[in-house]
Amino acid sequence: MGIEGLINPRGFVIVDKHQRNPKYQNVFGAGVCIAIAPLEATPVPVGVPKTGYMIESMATAIAQNLKEILADKEPTHQGSWNAICLADFGDGGVVFVAQPQNPPRNVNWSSSGKLVHQAKVAFEKYFLRKVRKGSTEPYYGEGGDVDAEHLQAEEQETGLRSGPSECKTGAE
Ligand SMILES: Cc1cc2nc3c(=O)[nH]c(=O)nc-3n(C[C@H](O)[C@H](O)[C@H](O)COP(=O)(O)OP(=O)(O)OC[C@H]3O[C@@H](n4cnc5c(N)ncnc54)[C@H](O)[C@@H]3O)c2cc1C
Repeated sequence: MGIEGLINPRGFVIVDKHQRNPKYQNVFGAGVCIAIAPLEATPVPVGVPKTGYMIESMATAIAQNLKEILADKEPTHQGSWNAICLADFGDGGVVFVAQPQNPPRNVNWSSSGKLVHQAKVAFEKYFLRKVRKGSTEPYYGEGGDVDAEHLQAEEQETGLRSGPSECKTGAE
C-alpha cells in the first residue's frame, strides 16, 4: 500500500527525529499522520498517543529545520515529546503533564477539579486570540516549559488535588 519508504504499512508517514522522511528528503511530517513505533505489544493494537502540545513543537521544529536547509545546513531541530492535556468535564476536569510523554519521565503529574474546567476555557481564549493575531510562537518558545517545582507551587496555590498520573494520553 502507498509509496515504499514514504509511509509504513498502516499508512503513517515515516519521519526521522527532524520530522523529515529519510527517503524523500523534501517531505516532512508532523502530527497524527506520522508513524511512531509502539512502546510495547498490547492485546488491542493501539498507537502511541499524539497530542497537540507535542505536535505544535514538531511544526516549530520543521519550520526551523527548513530555515537551516535553505541556508545549506543540516537540520538540527527536534520536536519535544512532552504532553500537557486538559480534559474538560463541564463542571470539572482532569489535567496531566507527562514530560516526556513516553517513560522514563522527568515530570509525571496529574490533578483534577473545577479549576481544570476554568483553565480549559482560559486556554481556548488564549488559543483563539493567537489564531486571530496570527501569532505562532508558543508561550514556552523561550524555554519556559513547565517543570515539576513550578507545578507543585501551582498546586499549593490553587489547592488542586494531585497524585501519580494514571491518565493515558490515548484516552483524551
Ligand atoms: C476533545 C479533544 C481534546 C484534546 N485535548 C488536548 C489537550 O488538552 N492537549 C493536547 O496536547 N492535545 C489535545 N488534543 C489532541 C490534539 O487536538 C490533536 O492531537 C491535534 O489537534 C492533532 O493535530 P494534527 O495537526 O495532527 O491534526 P488535526 O488537528 O486533526 O488537523 C488535520 C487537518 O487536516 C484537515 N484535513 C483532513 N483531511 C483533509 C483532506 N483530505 N484535505 C485537506 N484537509 C484535510 C482536517 O480538516 C484538519 O483541519 C485533544 C483532542 C481532542 C479531540
